[in-house]
Amino acid sequence: MFTMVSGLQNYSEQAIQAARYIGQGFMVTLDHMNRLPMTIQYPYEKLIPSERFRGRIHFEFDKCIACEVCVRVCPINLPVVDWELKKDIKKKQLKSYSIDFGVCIFCGNCVEYCPTNCLSMTEEYELSIYDRHDLNYNQIALGRLPISVIEDSTIKTISNLSYLSKGNTESHFNSRNVTNFLG
Ligand code: SF4
Ligand code: SF4
Repeated sequence: MFTMVSGLQNYSEQAIQAARYIGQGFMVTLDHMNRLPMTIQYPYEKLIPSERFRGRIHFEFDKCIACEVCVRVCPINLPVVDWELKKDIKKKQLKSYSIDFGVCIFCGNCVEYCPTNCLSMTEEYELSIYDRHDLNYNQIALGRLPISVIEDSTIKTISNLSYLSKGNTESHFNSRNVTNFLG
């Protein structure tokens, strides 16, 4: 009889302790509900990409000397440089240039090593299409100027947290404020 009573007592103590832990957990959850959400409402709000963000590659046809350095430094020899040798002027002449963004890993090697700076990384990352062949950009598609997030007046831009000084984590222009995010 005694062991049964002490067992019940032990059980009730453990149950109370567990209930207390659950209650504490609920309090933490409720405390989170009290805070403002830290969410970027894409596509109405967009983060401004960092200065060295590696988005879609931009290509300037007139600057390319068809040296094929971009092909040699590419991990998968991706850029397709089509050229012909003009014997009269003893120079290579570029006929066409393409990069398939369905295969590109956006490492930026081609941009780094291009001797004439005709390649550059843009901040464009919205490249989704329905047909994978449409990701194979020719020199015309590659030469299109990128759409800048800042210049789009239809959306609200939000600066990246890394742009902000330590301690200032107020990324939204409204009163949203999250503390202790950067530690
Ligand atoms: S970004 Fe990298 S993977 Fe893409 S074409 Fe350039 S070198 Fe190749
Ligand atoms: S490295 Fe630059 S200049 Fe040379 S082929 Fe590639 S894009 Fe043209």
